[in-house]
Amino acid sequence: MLQDDASQRLAAVQTAIARAAKIADITLIAVSKTHDAATIQPLIDAGQRVFGENRVQEAQGKWPQLRETTSGIALHLVGQLQSNKADEAVALFDAIHGVDRPSLVTALAKAMDKADRRPACFLQVNIGDEAQKGGCPVAELPALLAEAKAAALPVAGLMCVPPAGLEAAPYFALLAKLAREHDLAGLSMGMSSDYETAVTLGATHVRVGTALFGERA
Ligand SMILES: *Cc1c(COP(=O)(O)O)cnc(C)c1O
Repeated sequence: MLQDDASQRLAAVQTAIARAAKIADITLIAVSKTHDAATIQPLIDAGQRVFGENRVQEAQGKWPQLRETTSGIALHLVGQLQSNKADEAVALFDAIHGVDRPSLVTALAKAMDKADRRPACFLQVNIGDEAQKGGCPVAELPALLAEAKAAALPVAGLMCVPPAGLEAAPYFALLAKLAREHDLAGLSMGMSSDYETAVTLGATHVRVGTALFGERA
């Protein structure tokens, strides 16, 4: 990616967030999955420091080197996580957004104790109760949250990916309501096509890939 393109895209997304924002402190997670280090570096040079990846192995392949040359990089895991990758995820990431089942809560708690490192966790909710979609069913959120608290997982908030092809606003509003009910401050919602709507409805973390990097191959 050209440095000018990176700077312009970053400024455009930052401006749109600021315009829609109700709260001052919104974290823009630049989702760099599938993109190589050469594509990511211009965004780092433009000042971006928070990045998101959806695969542990892919992130292990490119981020240790990128982090060597720039301090203050924060890495968020935004995709599904298998319990057998919990140790690696805890070692590499500063936040984990896909916590959606009791077995993963247990695996992450164990990995955090072992590593003595505690990345912030977002509980992923299957907000449209769709078949074949990641996230815990809405009705099971109270039980999952209780498990996470019992395991002393550092729960930062809730995360969702609304159903494709439908208006996202009602789903964002529902996630915000669930977070309020459970006294959770963090709301990870909004992607390239709907991050401004998400921010309007209270997002604290938006996960933006395409609008910053262009289309994925
Ligand atoms: C890929 C991905 C994003 C970014 O999507 P864009 O539409 O490219 O902005 C956000 N969240 C998750 C969970 C993703 O997998």
